[in-house]
Amino acid sequence: MMNETEMAALQQLLATPKKISIIPHRNQDGDSMGSTLGLYHFLLQLNHDVTLISPNEFADYIAWLPAAEKVLVFEKDTTECAAILENSDLIFTLDFNALHRTGELMGAFLQTLDKTFVMIDHHQLPDSYAKFMYSDPKMSSTCEMVYHFIHQLGLEKLINTTVGTCLYTGLVTDTGSFRFSSTTSTTHQVAAHLIEIGINNSQIHNNLFDTSSYNRLQLLGKALQNMKLMPEFKTSYITLSQQELDDYHYEKGDTEGIVNYGLSIDGIDFTAIFIENKAEEIIKISFRSQGDYDVNQFARNYFNGGGHINAAGGKSTASLSETVDRFISIVKETKK
Ligand code: 5GP
Ligand code: MN
Repeated sequence: MMNETEMAALQQLLATPKKISIIPHRNQDGDSMGSTLGLYHFLLQLNHDVTLISPNEFADYIAWLPAAEKVLVFEKDTTECAAILENSDLIFTLDFNALHRTGELMGAFLQTLDKTFVMIDHHQLPDSYAKFMYSDPKMSSTCEMVYHFIHQLGLEKLINTTVGTCLYTGLVTDTGSFRFSSTTSTTHQVAAHLIEIGINNSQIHNNLFDTSSYNRLQLLGKALQNMKLMPEFKTSYITLSQQELDDYHYEKGDTEGIVNYGLSIDGIDFTAIFIENKAEEIIKISFRSQGDYDVNQFARNYFNGGGHINAAGGKSTASLSETVDRFISIVKETKK
């Protein structure tokens, strides 16, 4: 929970209508999208004037969420978004721990803003830009935190099926459908409550995971064929080149979740996926682990990234093959 003094001050601010902006991290996932929209539908009921500003475009698999069409995109409508942010009384930042996680353009702009920020986030080592901070790396998801935040405000009656649908989305996506070790009994209690109030859990899961295109599954097949094993280091990794993405008409979101297959092999506790992005001139990397192997530290130490103990990301500006070669030698040097 947020500490009580901060909570009382924030409660005071929220007692009268305010101009509020809500910002998720760049390359939105189910948790950032679900938490921003869940908070949005909650704050609207308190008569606040609320704007949603995403750093960049988001994927189709989360575009069905209620009010997704209201989300403005900073990298597309920069002037309009900047003006709204400059006019905001309060800016909520959700599911990230440092302003640069909104990308270079938006991150640089936010650094210059002298505004009251509220952080709700479950990543380790948060920066200190926010006046109000609810940061807890033990939480399954930011969506779970928004649920607790609303409870702490004493306004749980405002958690209706619209708010609940959004929040359930992040619970499901960030816990790998309730299978990761971040899933607690409280996570299940939150899910149970949302089902009790009438969200359609099966439909939400279907919207998220059973709406793939044929091309997406073919790309998954390619990714699985590209998987390499380093059994003596309990490590696996997958690569996808830009050419391979193009061959299967890649669309945003198509590679979501593929990294997890690397852990589904017996005896593997560390995996990575390297995805070439020619437009951004980077290799985007996702890391996953099982047990104690800390991929947040790995991503921070070697690949300019971060995240959680068992799920993190990073990037590289070297070529795909150079990046993979570097990864292999780091694993050989550092993993017993
Ligand atoms: P994913 O691999 O699904 O993109 O991300 C896994 C986790 O790591 C998420 O919590 C995400 O926010 C975080 N993450 C992904 N990429 C980066 C990055 O480049 N930098 C940092 N600090 N965190 C990242
Ligand atoms: Mn999250």
